[in-house]
Amino acid sequence: MFLGLSALAWSQAAAPLSVDPALLTRAERTDFTETSSLADVEAFLSALSLRTDLLRVSSFGQSQEGRPLLLATLCDPPLGDPRELRALARPIVFVQANIHAGEVEGKEAAMNLMRRLTLGDLRPLLSRLVVLFAPDYNADGNEALDVNNRSDQYGPIAGVGRRENASGLDLNRDYMKLDSPEARALVALFNAWDPHVVVDLHTTNGSHHGYHLTYSIPLNLSFEPRLLDYQREAMMPRLRTALLDKHGFRSYYYGNFEGKPPEAGAAETRRWSAFDHRPRLGQNYVGLRNRLAILSEAYSYLSFEKRIAATEAFVEQILRDVDAHAAEVIGLVNDLDADFVRRARGEEALLLGVEYEARALPLPVPLLVGEVRREVNPRNQKPMTVAIEDRFESVTMQDFGVFAPLRSVPMARVYVLPRVAGMQAIVDKLVQHGIRVEELLAPLDAELESFTPTSIGRSQRAFQKHNEVRIAGSFASARATLPAGTIVVRLAQPLGRLAAYLLEPESDDGLLRWNFFDAWLEVGKPVPVSKLMRNAPMSTRALEGF
Ligand SMILES: [Zn+2]
Repeated sequence: MFLGLSALAWSQAAAPLSVDPALLTRAERTDFTETSSLADVEAFLSALSLRTDLLRVSSFGQSQEGRPLLLATLCDPPLGDPRELRALARPIVFVQANIHAGEVEGKEAAMNLMRRLTLGDLRPLLSRLVVLFAPDYNADGNEALDVNNRSDQYGPIAGVGRRENASGLDLNRDYMKLDSPEARALVALFNAWDPHVVVDLHTTNGSHHGYHLTYSIPLNLSFEPRLLDYQREAMMPRLRTALLDKHGFRSYYYGNFEGKPPEAGAAETRRWSAFDHRPRLGQNYVGLRNRLAILSEAYSYLSFEKRIAATEAFVEQILRDVDAHAAEVIGLVNDLDADFVRRARGEEALLLGVEYEARALPLPVPLLVGEVRREVNPRNQKPMTVAIEDRFESVTMQDFGVFAPLRSVPMARVYVLPRVAGMQAIVDKLVQHGIRVEELLAPLDAELESFTPTSIGRSQRAFQKHNEVRIAGSFASARATLPAGTIVVRLAQPLGRLAAYLLEPESDDGLLRWNFFDAWLEVGKPVPVSKLMRNAPMSTRALEGF
């Protein structure tokens, strides 16, 4: 039954059944008992493409098992090429869903938003923004649907996909090492499209809180302070207010409660703790690239339908906010890149944290502690946890919401790698990240700092198929002549801080930590990445081949 499309029909409040049935999502067609398969998402995009010319569908790569990583590009005029879209000088917002394919409401919300952006109430935004959706990033995980995956969450009762990709890798721990084809494709997308804002959609695990949705931003205080301040002081407070005022959804920074409720009369000892500062996680990785990043975590104990609605409302408000502050967002991002390059060409020491601690915000914060009940899933007879939505208590406690460096090192002006067998894997990784790698065309006399380990430790338990390496030791400096062909990576490039995080020997998320230097590691022997601490003229060219 086709009842016609009007801008009103595809607003969030409209009853979905009043609209074109071909554009209903699987969640809507099944009364929110099921989530969309890859074929459902493809059919949706195909149906939507027949009804609007503002959508371009492509893939940005292939999954481990060969499935397309879908990319939907929405813009007026309809353009599908990154260079054309960059030339419009509009903010580019990239929304990725389903990185953890058991956390499926982002995928459904993305489709709802695509309808509204092309045919509904959000249509005017496409004249001023470019919006990219990767609705099913972990495409293999999505197809590994099982009624027993994440069975504690409140639906969809017919099951969801699994967290990991087909190789068992968590794609949200793969942003630095780029082991998976999915993560490599995603970073290639970042390099090509360079979105100003990246939104990553998830579902919570853990604490029983009183929010419909929690969010996170880059949490590492070694990153650009202006980026962190803009997100924490300006953007997120605006979004939090809009989400409550316009949609009635309560929200706050993502975290978990630690500690137990105090005895009657005793002081509050519980605290709220954010998760992690390391760029192996998407929101930190994007921040390390000087781009705005927002992690969205719908509350897993709300109904599937409500989680979709909260996620949809949050992304809607992000798009409206970026639209309302377009010049500010573009200006900030451009300034951060230019400013970093300027400072890296100068003399001032630029520091990078190599050890961190969680740090409380200056003042305690009222946090909403929620209540839950249990309900049995009729499909597998297992208990689901269900939020009692409007029963919560506000408790003032410390919020350990950021991570501050305990120890920092000055970044090199130039990182130096010898041209030896085995180094290609490291060069390839840097290039995959979009970092400019060069080679010396003539020998160079220079003062070099080299790190010699006095101890080398490997984690006993494998994590993401790696036994992470921790080294201790010290730097010493000596004059050396670097032969022509030596590989050099200059800090003075927009991704310079990312290059330093990958190459610093003591980095807590660098290539040494992730085993890329294992073949050369020996106590008492300098590691084969050394540092020039001053800029010096040198004859180089971009490294082509090895
Ligand atoms: Zn997740």
